[in-house]
Amino acid sequence: MDVPFNPNEAPPSGVTNPAFNGYRADLPLCDAHVHLSGLHDAAWDAQMVRGLMEHFGMERVALLGLPASSHREEIDADNNARCLAVKRALNAERPDRPVYACAGLDLRFGGLDDPADLLAQARARAAEGYDGFKLLLGKPGIRRRFGLPIDGPALAPFLSFLEETGLPLTLHAGDPPDFWNPARAATGETWAYDASFPSLAQIRDEVEGALRAHPRLRLTLAHLFFLGDRPDEAARLLEAYPDLCFDLTPGGEMFAGMSRDPETWRGLFLRHRDRFLFGSDSDDWHSSEDLSTYTWNFGFIVNLPRAFLERSEPFRFHDCDLGVLRPLHLPDDVLRAVYRDNFVRRFGDRPRPLP
Ligand SMILES: [Zn+2]
Repeated sequence: MDVPFNPNEAPPSGVTNPAFNGYRADLPLCDAHVHLSGLHDAAWDAQMVRGLMEHFGMERVALLGLPASSHREEIDADNNARCLAVKRALNAERPDRPVYACAGLDLRFGGLDDPADLLAQARARAAEGYDGFKLLLGKPGIRRRFGLPIDGPALAPFLSFLEETGLPLTLHAGDPPDFWNPARAATGETWAYDASFPSLAQIRDEVEGALRAHPRLRLTLAHLFFLGDRPDEAARLLEAYPDLCFDLTPGGEMFAGMSRDPETWRGLFLRHRDRFLFGSDSDDWHSSEDLSTYTWNFGFIVNLPRAFLERSEPFRFHDCDLGVLRPLHLPDDVLRAVYRDNFVRRFGDRPRPLP
């Protein structure tokens, strides 16, 4: 089909901020899912977040720490501390445009984690002024490497601590369903899982086990919990667990899934408008030497969710083969909830003070 408009294309002459090309620029935007996982110095980290916020008109950002042990095994002594340092620097600079920092846990390999140690880490990070926590533990490769069930005994005291304090947890659990593909895994493809990985169903069961055991946990499941093609299951979870939220961080494939049934998804957003958070997954490994090129670096991941939530006509992103997307065209009050109010409710009106 002929698709008339690509939100990521070069802006027409006269448009000064291409990020809002075609969008309602007056809506406040808070990003619940940003990382600093490239290996850069403090000045680069701060400039990346400052530039992201300026370029896309963001009111607030939550930086999600990824300690080296839980991410890429790179040499990154303390990714949490890097996130906290940016929070400190930018909040001193612009208190009206707050930055929040969530900490990851330093995990061991092979299921050797001591529940008391994980709880002690959580208490220490909370005392240092982090605004919540982030775990990648439900990503299949990481789940396999750590051998640490999400609903197992090692994490239980940590999750109880979050329940008691109300500190939120963002969890990556699962991956796009078509990543489970033994034939592709046999060819050595990176994002393809065979039977040596936990199944998507197992990971989802573990998450629900944790929710059943910790019903007041303020859990945000990243990337819509990869349920873009299962609005019925998303609705069931939202109705069963009133403190559960989903973030809308691409992915990308989830928008293709939602495009198969936009009417049902639109109804779900109207009914549960307070349960979805905008997120981009912007990360400083996206950024180039030239930090002024924000549209190029981050335009896709910021603009794709916005386009999907806001636009009324089918569209296509030329730089990612998601097919024709059928957007939700949400009303402004729902967009305000997803873009701002739900972030504030989840992470607090002000970032937690730093000692
Ligand atoms: Zn992420």
